[in-house]
Amino acid sequence: MKIVGFLHSTFIDYPGKIATEIFTAGCNFSCPTCHSRKIVKSMLQEINEDYVFSYIDSRKEWIDGIVVSGGEPTLQKGLEDFLEKCKKKGISVKLDTNGSNYKVLENLLQKKIVDYVAMDIKGPPSLYSVLTGKKGNAEDVEKGMLVVMQFPDYEFRTTIVPLQEKEETKKEKIKLEKLPTRWPTEEEIEEMARWVIKVTGKNNHKYFLQRFVSREEDEMLDERFCKYKLPKEMWETPYEVVNNVYDIIKKYLPNVATR
Ligand code: SF4
Repeated sequence: MKIVGFLHSTFIDYPGKIATEIFTAGCNFSCPTCHSRKIVKSMLQEINEDYVFSYIDSRKEWIDGIVVSGGEPTLQKGLEDFLEKCKKKGISVKLDTNGSNYKVLENLLQKKIVDYVAMDIKGPPSLYSVLTGKKGNAEDVEKGMLVVMQFPDYEFRTTIVPLQEKEETKKEKIKLEKLPTRWPTEEEIEEMARWVIKVTGKNNHKYFLQRFVSREEDEMLDERFCKYKLPKEMWETPYEVVNNVYDIIKKYLPNVATR
């Protein structure tokens, strides 16, 4: 496990738990809107796994969960061993994932070493290449959804990110040539909601909507999405846009909520 980030305690990242959180290096996606550049590119000092466990041991009276986030944790060779150690300590495990590495997720499901999975749904399948910076991964994500919904608890979540004009996104361009100037359309949001229902065969998933918030240049994976380079109205997803997306999704996925 290459751990490059450690949050001693969080009250908000694992529903109902006081958790410690780790961030693993690297990702198989390259989302231009990602604000974890230093984690994805492994630019931070590595943290020893023993340090994480000794911290958990020293706070075992009140830490009852661990969040394993990234980057994309399922890329880590030592993930299974690490999670087994967590379970032996009696703490609950939450895994954050982009859902594309479905074979690893299947293995973790069989081993029963993850209690809660939070999986990103980046957008409708027609925009997946643009949104993730990688071609042809929506089919893997579909397989990921089917695995994730079998864990004891799970959620799907979408961050509402800025997009280029429709002509640009239609070309499924991996490299952005123009800055984003718009938010997802009603048709794109509906396409995403219908896709989730079609793939999973149900509509009662816990589904969360999150705001995009741009950061400094050295934190964004694609520096054109940093503050100051984006048009100011694209710096953060306006609450009005979030509410619109919520209203559209609610018609399809009734358990949608915002955070
Ligand atoms: S936002 Fe995209 S690139 Fe960043 S960690 Fe998540 S899946 Fe990987």
